[in-house]
Amino acid sequence: MMKQYIGIDIGGTMIKFALIDQAGKIGKKWRIPTNLAENGAYIPSEIAESIENELPTALESVKGIGIGVPGPISRSGETVLEAVNLGWKKLPLKKGLEERLGIPVALINDANAAALGEMWQGVSKGKRNLLFVTLGTGVGGGIVLNGKILNGVHSSGGEIGHIPISSSEHRLCGCGNINCLETFCSANGLVKTMKVVDPERAAVHPGFTAVDIFKWVAAGDLRAQEALAATIERLGMVLAGIMNTIDVEEIVIGGGLSEAGDALLAPLRLVVDAHIFPQIRGNYHVKKAALGNDAGIYGAVYYCQSVHEMID
Ligand SMILES: [Zn+2]
Repeated sequence: MMKQYIGIDIGGTMIKFALIDQAGKIGKKWRIPTNLAENGAYIPSEIAESIENELPTALESVKGIGIGVPGPISRSGETVLEAVNLGWKKLPLKKGLEERLGIPVALINDANAAALGEMWQGVSKGKRNLLFVTLGTGVGGGIVLNGKILNGVHSSGGEIGHIPISSSEHRLCGCGNINCLETFCSANGLVKTMKVVDPERAAVHPGFTAVDIFKWVAAGDLRAQEALAATIERLGMVLAGIMNTIDVEEIVIGGGLSEAGDALLAPLRLVVDAHIFPQIRGNYHVKKAALGNDAGIYGAVYYCQSVHEMID
């Protein structure tokens, strides 16, 4: 009989659940709103309740629960160190849920989960080494080496959104540092760069977004093209630098900006190629992620299986 797992992706507005078997087939999917009251204090019990309600009979056959969390996890795997968007600080989520549900729980950072998800059931299926980058309101990352996520000594491995960028500007990052990659190459960073390139733009189009910028680029708007090119230049140089360090098989781009498809990926490939080490050039891929919002639940289940040594 196929082993069953529950994958969970905790986001700032919704918590997504899926019952997934060991072959990666989704049996059931559901979601609940994220309750941010009292610094997210009710979230763990609401997760447990939701599982009990949705799987009243199937729960006995569930071998493990993998949970993707928007923040770093302690080295022991027991505690969510911090999840700013949820209001959590040092929350022992693993033990609490295991006691309540009687099922092993594994916690993983959400970007790392998405990276594993793309490797297991997404665009990198069959690969064991990849650099995953998510370009959304921020920039997240996950590095998979020999099938395992690089979590690092301080649970900060793969935090490529916080690689420093050299610039005459002074952009304050959410992490407290100045000029991190995500202040330039997230959707918000692109909008900021558009405002630097064309200070009048916001007056004419108040509240414009990255989607508008891609529309302007497609329509031949030179200023928008300049802003996008500057963004891609910075991102491509950083990605080439990481590739020259870890030398993996492919770069996978996810998140909202990746929806622009080749308008982003084609010029990005050229910049990465220009800076990548000659031995790698021509022997790697830059791909768009395939699983969208489901990458995290797949990856959480894959991680859960791997920490319980059910797969290598
Ligand atoms: Zn930062």
